Amino acid sequence: MRNTRALSPIFELSAPGRRGATLPPSDVPYAALDEILPAEARADALPDLPEVAEGDVVRHYTCISQLNMSVDTHFYPLGSCTMKYNPKRNERLASLPGMLDLHPYQSEASHQGMLQLLFELQQMLAEIAGLEAVSLQPAAGAHGELAALMTAAAYFRDRGEHRTKVLAPDSAHGTNPASAAVAGFDAVTVRSTPDGYVDLEDLKAKLDDQSAVFMITNPSTLGMFERNIKPIADMVHAAGGLLYLDGANMNAILGIARPGDFGADMMHYNPHKTFSGPHGGGGPGAGPIAVRGMLGPYLPAPVVAFDGVRYRLDYDRPKSIGRVRSFFGNVGVLVRAYCYIRTYGGKGLREVSENAVLNANYLLSKLKHIFPVPQGDRCMHEFVATASKIKAERGISAMDIAKRLLDYGFHAPTVYFPITVKESMMIEPTETESKETLDAFAEALFRITEEPADLLHEAPHSTGISRPDEVKAARQPQTSWPK
Ligand SMILES: *Cc1c(COP(=O)(O)O)cnc(C)c1O
Repeated sequence: MRNTRALSPIFELSAPGRRGATLPPSDVPYAALDEILPAEARADALPDLPEVAEGDVVRHYTCISQLNMSVDTHFYPLGSCTMKYNPKRNERLASLPGMLDLHPYQSEASHQGMLQLLFELQQMLAEIAGLEAVSLQPAAGAHGELAALMTAAAYFRDRGEHRTKVLAPDSAHGTNPASAAVAGFDAVTVRSTPDGYVDLEDLKAKLDDQSAVFMITNPSTLGMFERNIKPIADMVHAAGGLLYLDGANMNAILGIARPGDFGADMMHYNPHKTFSGPHGGGGPGAGPIAVRGMLGPYLPAPVVAFDGVRYRLDYDRPKSIGRVRSFFGNVGVLVRAYCYIRTYGGKGLREVSENAVLNANYLLSKLKHIFPVPQGDRCMHEFVATASKIKAERGISAMDIAKRLLDYGFHAPTVYFPITVKESMMIEPTETESKETLDAFAEALFRITEEPADLLHEAPHSTGISRPDEVKAARQPQTSWPK
């Protein structure tokens, strides 16, 4: 049963004078406020805060949290984002007092253990990437893109080359062209062929001596491994440019293919995707980057170094682009990634990817009769199906299906991205789901396609709110409760 009172806005739960805690009488000598705090340092009025008991607060936030879907409560096949289950052992290890209670202003000598962990993580990420140098600083995948593009810019500047363009395919994640623009480059779009690969002719036409970087997501957002990656890398390098790998889809190729081996010069990781860090809710992520040796000197400083005896933060990097994040980055997220990688080891990471690919192909083959997959019968860790057929037959859109899935207790797949496929549904089951869960999800989709169209247009029916105006919510967020 839903506790509707607890779900009210917390200001409506307020009663004058109600408190969460009662303090004992003060034994500190009384002083008038004017004596301790000058009038100009004080607010004109008390802040408008709800007055509630501790139980009110706990029930309110617990009930609100239960309105959400999460990987701890539901199957979450959100393509491109790798929403896998987050093993609790990583949380436990990251919460050990020796990890949690460190202060970044402690001396290096007093946190050698943490520096060792971060140093080893740099090495492990370098090895998985097949690239030599790593920075752990960036705070998200998109931030890693930006830091890497700034690193590339510094590299070209140092060589006396003036390159102004960053290229990316039309199927790229929106952060790719956005990072290019923020880093001061002109973003150039390269076409895809109808079967979803990079259009080599178009790439050739757009590559020139102004091209700094070609950004590619491989496996792509369509869940396909770019079969021309080697010729693409050769073309980019022949034009004097660098190849950037958007590593959001590393879950498909861990221990199977290394970006450095297939020609990438730089990449980012999304530990909150690939290495099971918790996502979202505005909480911290991380976006470590790995680059080829010649780009290493330009990486953000400091990096963690080891001289055979002591671990230290190396600030002595005259060519570095400088800091992109305070202290050492989002260390808690990095600790979780370290634990995840060490738990699986090399062989285990390969199995993660093999099972992620197996699960995606199992689901693809179950669904393709009703939701055709334009890019073919095989996929990597995710696939893009289309609801066009069912829309033509019954007037049901990908949005209707996504919304109705919530009523069945499944998070929706990513819909309408990539924009190169009409009525797209991008489904990524991940390796952490059982056959039973995948079967139940397929079954829910089949049942939905047989339900009355009117019911689907109005879905979801079981959630706190049904279909908010998403554009308005994004453009005019209501951040306080109206009086
Ligand atoms: C998630 C994602 C990003 C951005 O990563 P964040 O960690 O969310 O900043 C970039 N590219 C692709 C393909 C992604 O899926």
